[in-house]
Amino acid sequence: MKDDMHEQKHFVKYLLTFVFIFIIMIAAVFSIHYSGILGFDTIGATTTDSIDTLPSDTTSSESISQTSSQTQTTETTESLTDTEDRTQTESTERSTKYPPATLPIIPTQTTSSKTTATTEKTTVTTVTTTQTTTSETTTTETTTTEITTTETTTTKPITPEELHKITAEDITDEKMAELITKKYLTVHSKSRPGYKLWSVKNIVVHYVANPGTSALQNWKYFENKNNVSAHFIIDIDGSIIQCMPTNEVAWAVGTKNGNYTSISIECCHPDSTGEFTEETYISLLKLVSWLCAEYDLDRDDVIRHYDYGIQKSWGVYHKACPLYYANDKEPASHERWEKFREEIYIK
Ligand SMILES: [Zn+2]
Repeated sequence: MKDDMHEQKHFVKYLLTFVFIFIIMIAAVFSIHYSGILGFDTIGATTTDSIDTLPSDTTSSESISQTSSQTQTTETTESLTDTEDRTQTESTERSTKYPPATLPIIPTQTTSSKTTATTEKTTVTTVTTTQTTTSETTTTETTTTEITTTETTTTKPITPEELHKITAEDITDEKMAELITKKYLTVHSKSRPGYKLWSVKNIVVHYVANPGTSALQNWKYFENKNNVSAHFIIDIDGSIIQCMPTNEVAWAVGTKNGNYTSISIECCHPDSTGEFTEETYISLLKLVSWLCAEYDLDRDDVIRHYDYGIQKSWGVYHKACPLYYANDKEPASHERWEKFREEIYIK
């Protein structure tokens, strides 16, 4: 029995030793497994590790995303188009989905897209401004054109009435001095006796009766002692020569009384009708208006050479001077004269 007992104890001892060793081995295997030295399931372990580490990364990525989305919210407010918003939203989604490693780039992209948006906005604003400016310019141009048109309208159809409308500004001493050239005749009995006028009662209009001659040619005629003269000669081009001071006597109207109480104006004319050119006509209007103002005369004091009746043996003779405005054979000539007198500017 003692041997059996001894063998039995021996067996238990071995069994326990074996179990102990087995447990130790198992423990060793587990410890090795968990320390990863043996490399069991390496790839899966790494994936698991990255997944395990993700939360911290995700948190950081989320914080970036949140920053981005905050920026984007601001940008959305600032941004101009939905497309840009969508692009930004997509980049946000991408930043959330994709690994953290790509995240730092996203804000840079967002920034660049923001810059682009700002640039586009500026461009759009500039375009709008340009358009506004252009439209303003166009409006201004249109206005200018309208003004031009209006001016053209007033200038183009110039009616004789408008053209002949003399104002006080047209007959200032300065303006008349520009219009009149003083070229006094030599004092001698034939044309410029140098006698003083008794008074100035009338302004007398004549025509030179020599078609196509100039004021200067007629001045020379006077200067050559031809027993005729006048105070003024108006050229076909409207220029005026003054032959003597307005307080002197000119041999112009054929009567002593007339010559000593009037200022005479000779007018050149291009043809035998005796019609004045527009230039001559307007200069005559100005000169007559100015003299009326100077001598306090009325339009009725402006007369034609015709109006001095010269007593002849057979009756009173009226010289047809100025012919186009004082011709008894053409009644319309007297109407022309009356029209001229109406156009004289009287203060
Ligand atoms: Zn005359």
